[in-house]
Amino acid sequence: MATLRQKALMKVQARPQVSAVAPSLKISDYFGSQVFGLKEMQETLATPVFKKVSTAIEKGTKIDMSTADEVATAVKSWALGKGATHYTHWFQPLTGSTAEKHDTFFDALSGMEKFKGSALVQQEPDASSFPSGGIRTTFEARGYTAWDPSSPIFIFNQTLCIPTIFVSFTGEALDFKTPLIRSTEAINNAAVEICQYFDRNVRKVNPSLGVEQEYFVIDRALYATRPDLVMAGRTVFGHNPARGQQLDDHYFGSIPSRVKEYMKDFEIEALKLGIPVSTRHNEVAPGQFEVAPLFEDINKATDHNLLLMDVMEKVAEKHGLKVLFHEKPFAGLNGSGKHNNWSLITDTGVNLFQPSNSARENLQFLCFLVATLKAVYKNADLLRASIASAGNDFRLGANEAPPAIISVFLGSTLTGILDELEKNGNIKIEKGDNMYMKLGISKIPEIILDNTDRNRTSPFAFTGNKFEFRAVGSSANPAGPMTALNVIVADVLKELKKDIDKEIEGGKEKKIAIVNVLRKYIKESKKIRFEGDGYSEEWEKEAEKRGLSNLKSTAEALDVLLSKQVTDLYKRHNVLNEKELHARHEIRLENYVMKVQIESRVMGDLALNHIIPTAIRYQNQLIVNANGLKGLGLDHRAAIETIEEVSKHIEALKSNVSNMIEARKRVNKVENITEKAKLYSTEVKDAYFDKIRYAVDKLELLVDDEYWPLVKYREMLFLK
Ligand code: ADP
Ligand code: MG
Repeated sequence: MATLRQKALMKVQARPQVSAVAPSLKISDYFGSQVFGLKEMQETLATPVFKKVSTAIEKGTKIDMSTADEVATAVKSWALGKGATHYTHWFQPLTGSTAEKHDTFFDALSGMEKFKGSALVQQEPDASSFPSGGIRTTFEARGYTAWDPSSPIFIFNQTLCIPTIFVSFTGEALDFKTPLIRSTEAINNAAVEICQYFDRNVRKVNPSLGVEQEYFVIDRALYATRPDLVMAGRTVFGHNPARGQQLDDHYFGSIPSRVKEYMKDFEIEALKLGIPVSTRHNEVAPGQFEVAPLFEDINKATDHNLLLMDVMEKVAEKHGLKVLFHEKPFAGLNGSGKHNNWSLITDTGVNLFQPSNSARENLQFLCFLVATLKAVYKNADLLRASIASAGNDFRLGANEAPPAIISVFLGSTLTGILDELEKNGNIKIEKGDNMYMKLGISKIPEIILDNTDRNRTSPFAFTGNKFEFRAVGSSANPAGPMTALNVIVADVLKELKKDIDKEIEGGKEKKIAIVNVLRKYIKESKKIRFEGDGYSEEWEKEAEKRGLSNLKSTAEALDVLLSKQVTDLYKRHNVLNEKELHARHEIRLENYVMKVQIESRVMGDLALNHIIPTAIRYQNQLIVNANGLKGLGLDHRAAIETIEEVSKHIEALKSNVSNMIEARKRVNKVENITEKAKLYSTEVKDAYFDKIRYAVDKLELLVDDEYWPLVKYREMLFLK
């Protein structure tokens, strides 16, 4: 009888290719067709109502109930016209994905479709099952969702989705969006103050985000045969294929046609939702790909990234594919990240990270560049914590992934400029001198990073006119790390302002004051700058010498969230109070424990129920064979050796699995979640995962391919 694996492989062979069909050749014909944006509002709302809403969006002011009613009526008829039957508040609980609770527009009592302003503005999802880190249970049993008008309403799966924040009745944020919005406000305040030194017209500074999303796709039938992928999102076993990514031939190679149709298809759906997807290509590992949209305002970009992931999952079904967002679905191959490209843009249209031909603007550029450097230096551990997850632990520091050490790459041009500034900063500037010339910042050439200067190994790299935070995991909500980044940079910008003003009060000319402070910051934060190979062992040693942290496990990395430095920082900028921060710490540790526990269980089950019985069956066959050879008086040493080898791995597997189960039982008794997470990391994961995997992967090489129950790496990865 064919194994499930063989049946699945046959299914793959027979699978017809699905073609993507765009509604029109011109994207502009359907871009945003499922979005109720400003244009739709303007078209459907009375002018004074539209004005109120657009001011609310721009300034973050409150929307009164009668305005909300008008919007609701307009939105309802727009949505019904597009075939929507339900509506939902769409929010981002701390589980990391998005949540919805659908209500129908149809009101049975009146026999009509209804949607009131109150339903648009606020809902009370029965959300007791969402993690709250103790907030709701201790303080108030319920939470509510509230409309965030700054992110547009859209239709997905015939449901009108209203982006909302999710807060408890006592006002604590229970989601990712609320702190992100608060942090945007913090950095706006701090950045505007600095811009005022250079341009009085700047009233607002907005962070921008462009998310490069990496992912794997495999055939859906193959996916279904791997309990580890289904339960844990990654393969806990699987020997490396004969041809891995050694050849690097997949990267920028031609995209397999089945995947290409899938990409086209999800791009069409994304474009309809107003997500400006623009690039697609293969990634380093076989079966791995990337999609990137054009950058947008950080709040919208975050919503769009999460929505894009939903769209990708959904469209994959139609193509008989499964998309994997796990950070490390396949050991030994490249992991997946979510590169967060971040910059700051003024309401006058200036990207504050764009070097320029104007000397004055360059000084401003340097303020923001150096402030970011210092922010990362001072808060490297917080940034590390912001990207910590069970999945990302497998990626950071492994194949082709940034290490767990946080450092900043600037490129040779900027390194030269900062070194120069540090050196020449105390040059005496005489009356009539051109200070910019003397300091070498009159003109900073546009930074075009060619391939030699494009350091792919840095977790946090300056890439010409933006920073790229690459250590973010592919499954993460970008709001977490982006909130941290906004806050730490806001904090240093505030400090910068204070220090510059002090110098000015001390009688220094403004420009000189700025340069003096920047010099000091450049010196202070020098240790965080690293231009070399972040994947190398030398860097680990060098980083240790520099005193930089290298926190490899989430269980350790999250400790910093309880520190006074971080608590004060978040409080100072009104982004998270102590309670909210502690809740997040707890939820993330719980999540970590749960993930490791699930993986450990899957490993145990697979080993005991699938691998060992298969190995024994094969072993029995070998024994028959050896006896047969012996009976014939033939040499049977080779057969005996194989039997011994198989036995050795079976034994190792049995004892390690049973010891791992014992370890889990012990650790499960630990009450303190911090301690429990650390023990899960060391006594369960570190102590057994590799050993168990080693034995299974060896058996995979020994056991007859016909018998092997798990779909192999080569079968999953080389999809055509
Ligand atoms: P890379 O430099 O990594 O090859 P791109 O230049 O194509 O890639 O940009 C990658 C991502 O960065 C895209 O999503 C792009 O829209 C975004 N991006 C470009 N400029 C900015 C910016 N000023 N702020 C934020 N994101 C940006
Ligand atoms: Mg990039």
